This record gives sequence, C-alpha cells and structure tokens, in this order.
Amino acid sequence: METRVKPAYDAWINSVMVSRMIWRATVLTLFPEMFPGPLGVSLAGKALASGLWALEARDIRDSATDRHRSVDDTPAGGGPGMVLRADVLAAAIDAADISPDRPRLLMSPRGRPLTQSGVAELAAGPGPLIVCGRFEGVDQRLIEARNLEEVSVGDYVLSGGEIASMALIDACVRLLPGVMGKLASGADESFSEGLLEYPQYTRPQEFEGRAIPEILLSGDHARVAAWRQAEAEALTRARRPDLWSAKASQKRPKNTTDG
Ligand code: SAH
Repeated sequence: METRVKPAYDAWINSVMVSRMIWRATVLTLFPEMFPGPLGVSLAGKALASGLWALEARDIRDSATDRHRSVDDTPAGGGPGMVLRADVLAAAIDAADISPDRPRLLMSPRGRPLTQSGVAELAAGPGPLIVCGRFEGVDQRLIEARNLEEVSVGDYVLSGGEIASMALIDACVRLLPGVMGKLASGADESFSEGLLEYPQYTRPQEFEGRAIPEILLSGDHARVAAWRQAEAEALTRARRPDLWSAKASQKRPKNTTDG
C-alpha cells in the first residue's frame, strides 16, 4: 500500500471495528488443537493476528460429566460406530454462552449446502457458533433442542466437522471489511453473479507457446469486460448447467415486469 493512503486506511479500519463488534467464530470440537491451523496463515491468519476477526475453539470434552470424560455412546437401535451424546453437547453449547443473535450451526453432510450467498450472509452477521460432529454424528435430540442449523460443504463424507468448519470460516473471513487487499476483489469472482469466473492470465506474455488472449492486452476496458462476461457465461453453461439455469430463471420474471 502507498504510504500516503496508509493513515486514512488505518482510520477507516478503526472506524469499521468500533462501529461493529468483531466477527467471531466459536467452534465446538473434540480436537481444539486443529485450530487455527490453516486459518492462522495468509489472508485469514493476518486478519486474525490484527484483530479483524476472532476465533474461539472450545473442547467438547470439557463438558463431559462422568469420570471417563466420555462424549459418545453406541447408536440406539444398533449399528456401527459411535454417536455424540446430546447431554454433553448441550452442556458444551450452553457453556459457550453466546448471544442469541448468533447463528448456531452444525456441520453435517445432511445440511443445507453452503453457497457464496450463504457465506455472505454469515459474514454480514456477528459470526456463528459451529458444532463439529465426529464418528457417526450427533444425537438428533440435540439438533432440535438447541435449534442447530445443519450446513454441508458438499456431497461427500468427511471424518469430522472441523475441516468443513474451516472452509466455512475461511470463506466468511475473506469477505470481512479490511481483510482482502483490494476492496473490489470480492465482488467480481466465481458465484458472485451466479457465474463461474472468467480465465485469468499474468506474465509471461508467452508460456510454452501459448499467448495471453490479445483482447486482454488491448487496453480497451469495455472490450475486456465484454470478453470476460462472455467467457464466464460459456464456462458456466458448460460446467455448471445447474447454476446456468438458476441464473436464467432468476432473470425471467424481471424481464417480464420490465417489458
Ligand atoms: N454418519 C454420518 C456422517 C458422519 S461424518 C452420515 O452418514 O451423515 C462425521 C462428522 O463429520 C459429521 O457429524 C459432520 O460434522 C462432519 N461432516 C462430514 N461430512 C461433512 C460434510 N460434507 N459437510 C459438513 N460436515 C461434514
């Protein structure tokens, strides 16, 4: 950053921080030592170190009550594996004592798929409490009794909710004010307009006989923008027909009212 804009930038960051509470993720896990992990480096890590967001990883086992500190038991009705106990998890959630306006999430392959708009909504709020499952999952009564919203990071099964929660937190943190270097870089990327991002290029101008598309070197901003839009649309149509038809059906009612 240029030195002459730095003081103004710092003042702006301060005003943002004073005007809103710091975005906070409270994670309930059996493996608190996994945090911050990858969230402690690069963009998210720098922002964490400079106080732009806060992370609290709480050990579920601290809420166990028996002398073996057990957190799980065999599934009612039989079957393989272990299930996280409702009473222990409820005590862990209650001990975290979070304000009622914070979302309470459970990472779960059965959950609502996480999307960029869901991420943007979470990033705009005070920050969630996130329960990380392990083993076969958690007792259903806990989900109902503590009103947890189940969130999935994709149609595959991880061995625990921790990596899933890190994906969610990372996606939120990069949208927080002051975290990304250039303010614009969040607005123009994959999913923000219901499209995948256009291809990116940088120097060298030629790589193994492949040139950068000439339009990008033309300096004609309008033509560059039109090319990028066309590429984004073609990519989305080819790779993600689901996104493409969702975008088309969003457009349709608007066009009808316009005309
Ligand atoms: N038996 C469960 C899977 C348990 S996997 C089932 O079939 O649905 C153990 C834990 O990993 C889950 O409780 C959840 O917290 C986490 N997890 C696994 N896959 C996930 C995904 N795709 N999205 C979010 N969390 C996931």
